Amino acid sequence: MKRCVSCGREVKQNYVEFKCPSCGKTEVVRCTSCRVLGTKYTCAECSFTGP
Ligand SMILES: [Zn+2]
Ligand SMILES: [Zn+2]
Repeated sequence: MKRCVSCGREVKQNYVEFKCPSCGKTEVVRCTSCRVLGTKYTCAECSFTGP
């Protein structure tokens, strides 16, 4: 099960997943609505915040 790091909702199909651009350790998961809205996310590893 994956959760959107921005809104905390469970995601199944409509999401994007990428490595943290700062530390490269954490897989950042964002649902499509948060991506479209540009909701901020925070890396659990290095506290990097990005759109
Ligand atoms: Zn979301
Ligand atoms: Zn990071």
